[in-house]
Amino acid sequence: MADFGLDATELDIPCPQCGHETARSIGRLKREHGLDCGGCGRHIDTDAEELEHQVRAAVQRGADLLAQQLKRLR
Ligand SMILES: [Zn+2]
Repeated sequence: MADFGLDATELDIPCPQCGHETARSIGRLKREHGLDCGGCGRHIDTDAEELEHQVRAAVQRGADLLAQQLKRLR
């Protein structure tokens, strides 16, 4: 499969402590090994590889769904 280059993809990371969502790109999460919450300042450890895997899976599901809809239109 083609590489989507997800490093630039921004995700809203919810804080487990206060629920504040902080936007971070996957590339930055990889470099910084997580992030500090924009709400309460707590450090949140993220598994960027796992997040990237989940985004890839979601993109694939979206593509499959679109393909199904296009078939129905024929
Ligand atoms: Zn927080």
